[in-house]
Amino acid sequence: MHITQLEIDNFKSFARKTRIPFETGFTVISGPNGSGKSNILDSILFALGITSARGLRAERLTDLINSGSAKNTAEVIVSFSDGTRITRRIKRTPNGYYSYHYLNGRLSKQSEILAFLSRHGIKPHGYNIVMQGDVARIMEMSDGERRKIVDEIAGVAEFDLKRDQAMAE
Ligand code: ATP
Ligand code: MG
Repeated sequence: MHITQLEIDNFKSFARKTRIPFETGFTVISGPNGSGKSNILDSILFALGITSARGLRAERLTDLINSGSAKNTAEVIVSFSDGTRITRRIKRTPNGYYSYHYLNGRLSKQSEILAFLSRHGIKPHGYNIVMQGDVARIMEMSDGERRKIVDEIAGVAEFDLKRDQAMAE
């Protein structure tokens, strides 16, 4: 399964609704510094449910809304090759924000989104995406820390966690 399309609306530098199709195989996004390449990856992480603003290179989640826009919402829709669409929308309010998740257009709990992703081996907080700076960080890690990443990618970490939970009971 792969991502077939992204629709980015008022998220970060994407002031206008932008549709980005992904063909099968290898995709390269190129452009000058500051043109929004990393923002595209941020938009995917946002839609998949990353909850920390820092993980999306923002101070606060409301900073994800295009700063030049009068609109109070940002929205990203990720379409997958099996036809599933995952949407996340954030709405700024006078006291903070609301965050909404939709699965195929139906308002859903984040747990439903995570369950769908997990069935396909996608972990929003995992190493499906290697962020800018991660490579240097991985190089500087201890052997033990690096091993944890390999375990996670290989799918072993999940069983370690379950074993630890079972032992604790
Ligand atoms: P580099 O090649 O340096 O990695 P890049 O193409 O990855 O650059 P991004 O980090 O995706 O660039 O984009 C940075 C730009 O996004 C900055 O100009 C920043 O002002 C803009 N930006 C970030 N958040 C917002 C926002 N909420 N509203 C408008 N613009 C934003
Ligand atoms: Mg970048």
